[in-house]
Amino acid sequence: MTDDAPTGLAIALEPLVTRVLAGNPSPFTNSGTQTYLIGTTDLAVIDPGPDDADHLAALLAAVGERPVRAILCTHTHRDHSPAAPTLQAATGAPIIGCAPLALDDAGPRADASFDTGYSPDQVLADGEQVAGEGWTLTAVATPGHTSNHLCFALEESGALFTGDHVMGWSTTVVAPPDGNMAAYMTSLDRLINRPQDRIYYPAHGDPIENPHRFVRGLAGHRKQREGQILRLLEQGVGEVSAMVERMYVGLDPQLYGAAGRSVLAHLIDLESRARVAAEGEGWRLRA
Ligand SMILES: [Zn+2]
Repeated sequence: MTDDAPTGLAIALEPLVTRVLAGNPSPFTNSGTQTYLIGTTDLAVIDPGPDDADHLAALLAAVGERPVRAILCTHTHRDHSPAAPTLQAATGAPIIGCAPLALDDAGPRADASFDTGYSPDQVLADGEQVAGEGWTLTAVATPGHTSNHLCFALEESGALFTGDHVMGWSTTVVAPPDGNMAAYMTSLDRLINRPQDRIYYPAHGDPIENPHRFVRGLAGHRKQREGQILRLLEQGVGEVSAMVERMYVGLDPQLYGAAGRSVLAHLIDLESRARVAAEGEGWRLRA
């Protein structure tokens, strides 16, 4: 986490892209959520962020008199979408983007980290676009971190807004049941196979300027984690908490729960490939 984060300032990153940092730093958000304004004469806003009065005032100051054509959300975690209705009330812009989660179909999905009030005016399917003067954003479906995660590609500049799918400061939490490791790995491949992307702007952390090499590194890291889990199972370490202690030496204790969810996500993925099975409180290798 950086101490000198420019919270509330509108910072131009390239002609069509301006960033405003929200004041919600935490072990899960780095210095905070980064909201992006797209366009010059009219705008789209990507990931309006937490419903925080200071952040909304900073966004409205950055928007000025310009019309907002769309409020886009990459996914519905509470640090990304809750400001959407407040920004809508202030600008009249439609909320367009990721789907709401079906929170009522599985108890554990009604997780405290989800924005259950999210209600889009229009859901973008993979490949669908929203455009303004001199800018076109295309939805790139990237489930894994959440089942409804979208990245947005700015066609005119080769920038990809990666939300929490690929971040510039930390690996992504993949927490079942909504988070899905197999889907996440497929969504990493999806980005590796998009040569048109020149730079990533994540919701948390610095811009990523070598995006394809970076994503290959992330995929390799997850493969290493999977290998560690299989070796621990070979040694008879079958409980998630015991695996986290051995795999994440020196981790901030506040992140132990999230690390455990990511280990569980690997185990569920391995189970779906018939490599492991649940047994009692833990897991074992399948013969
Ligand atoms: Zn998230």
